[in-house]
Amino acid sequence: MQARIKRLSTFVANQIAAGEVVERPASIVKELIENSLDAGAHRISIATEHAGVKRIVVMDDGCGIHGEDLALALSPHATSKIDDAQDLVGVATLGFRGEALASIASVARLTISTRTDDAQSGWCIDAGTDVEPDVRMVGHPRGTTVEVRDLFYNTPARRKFLKTERTELAHLNDVVTRLALGRYDVEFEVRTGAVATLHLPACAEDRLRRAAQLLGEGFSRAAIEIDEQRAGLHLYGWVGMPTHSRSQADQQFFYVNGRSVKDRVVGYAVRQAYRDVLFNARHPVFVLYLDLDPTQVDVNVHPTKHEVRFRDARGVRDFMFGTLNRVLREMRPGTVAGSAPQPIAPMDMGMPISVQQAMSLPHTAASPYTLPHTALSLHETPRPRYAASADVPPLGFAVGQLHGVYILAQNSEGLVVVDMHAAHERITYERMKSARANRQSVQRQRLLVPINVDVSPAEANLAMEHADALLALGLELDRSGESSLTVRGVPALLSDADAAALVADVLADLHVDGASRRIIDEEDDLLATMACHASVRAHRELSIPEMNALLREMETTDNAGQCNHGRPTFLVQSLGELDQLFLRGR
Ligand code: ADP
Ligand code: MG
Repeated sequence: MQARIKRLSTFVANQIAAGEVVERPASIVKELIENSLDAGAHRISIATEHAGVKRIVVMDDGCGIHGEDLALALSPHATSKIDDAQDLVGVATLGFRGEALASIASVARLTISTRTDDAQSGWCIDAGTDVEPDVRMVGHPRGTTVEVRDLFYNTPARRKFLKTERTELAHLNDVVTRLALGRYDVEFEVRTGAVATLHLPACAEDRLRRAAQLLGEGFSRAAIEIDEQRAGLHLYGWVGMPTHSRSQADQQFFYVNGRSVKDRVVGYAVRQAYRDVLFNARHPVFVLYLDLDPTQVDVNVHPTKHEVRFRDARGVRDFMFGTLNRVLREMRPGTVAGSAPQPIAPMDMGMPISVQQAMSLPHTAASPYTLPHTALSLHETPRPRYAASADVPPLGFAVGQLHGVYILAQNSEGLVVVDMHAAHERITYERMKSARANRQSVQRQRLLVPINVDVSPAEANLAMEHADALLALGLELDRSGESSLTVRGVPALLSDADAAALVADVLADLHVDGASRRIIDEEDDLLATMACHASVRAHRELSIPEMNALLREMETTDNAGQCNHGRPTFLVQSLGELDQLFLRGR
């Protein structure tokens, strides 16, 4: 039943993080959907015209608003969700500031039609800065319809700040996605202009299907399921395999007690967990839910309620990092390449198996983590990938090179295809890492003839600012001018690399992330940059012994199944799979 709406006392109102909530059409849609969810709706439909600038309609089957409360609902700091400051602790509703409808009414024309369960009829109110609020009777099913027209009609300057329709639509889409991933029990329907663009039925079991509808089938194929509880914290959802990373951080969803938030503590934990398997410039995908005692988290820190504050931020971070780190580590050895007969399409074949796994065969154990259903159906019967053979090493022997990019090798199971740049990059990176771990710093080789490198003045400053840290990574640099550096030493492992280009790469990397970046914290990223730079480029002819040497190195390198950018480094196609491909022996 709908609780009555009250105006908050100034005292309480002043304790609420205040600010502008209406920035663009998407912010209105967000507030309206949140209101519908707070009203207990099972079904919400959203329609927009001209990306919401002309018209937004959100209709729900929630509890409705009492006719006598309609005018009050539109006034600032009027809410049915909290009474006093005490209620702010552990607030369970998405809204509580009592400001959204008032803010919307101040920048657009607003009509609310509604009916509660116990009312004889529905009620409707029109609002907007140039109309007297007017409440009248209407027919309306149980629930509420909010219609917003002509956004920023009275503030044309703000209207100009709106981006293209396409951009605004992307924001709308993001808002719906975020909210729909937070409430699987609610049905959502979206119309864009005259077109029905999305229908998400309520779902209890197959949550991954909704996620795939919103984030793409690629997501469900790459999703690793997580479900972990400890000390009052429950983390569940999915993280994407590193091979499914993206160039933008646009598929990262995190919910605290059902509320979508962008939290720095969490962002940090996730980045740390992925740092060894993902290059800095790539972004992992994840949809994660953290549930905890509501009194352990403060949601009242930001006007759009995007941020939260954990009472025990460190505990949350450690729990998240620990869980994700373990899952990602287990995932690598356990992940089996797709074995369905299909044309060779490396990026679509799932993950290659890791060398560790190849070496421990023939007992391929079932994966230690839960595979998503869709993935399971592909991998129902994991079978041994390599026949035991004393003479043939796991990655076999090279037979040749393809277009200067791939090494083709033959092992006891069949065909091995290695991306030689990616493989070399991983080897170099792991070697530099262990060199650093063993000796605290990377071994450096002084150059007989120092090399001059031209850089920007900002990069030169940066190099000097971080000289000690770079030295610990094996790069010895002096300043030789306003915009030039002298390279006196390079990491021993990279002594063959083009030193000038290496320095330029590392500094560009540092520069992009800003001088404030804590270089020591980010050492692995810099090592990865160096490793990538210094690795064999495509189109280099390798001799058969050189190729075999690379294969042998891969076999003894940690994480050799993927390069530092999270791309696979090799795949195996068994004779059986090749036979099936050629319809042989059927
Ligand atoms: P808040 O959500 O922070 O309380 P709003 O300005 O968004 O503030 O809404 C004011 C009040 O109007 C809410 O507290 C609620 O009682 C009522 N309300 C708004 N939208 C709906 C809806 N879709 N269904 C039922 N009640 C609603
Ligand atoms: Mg609200």
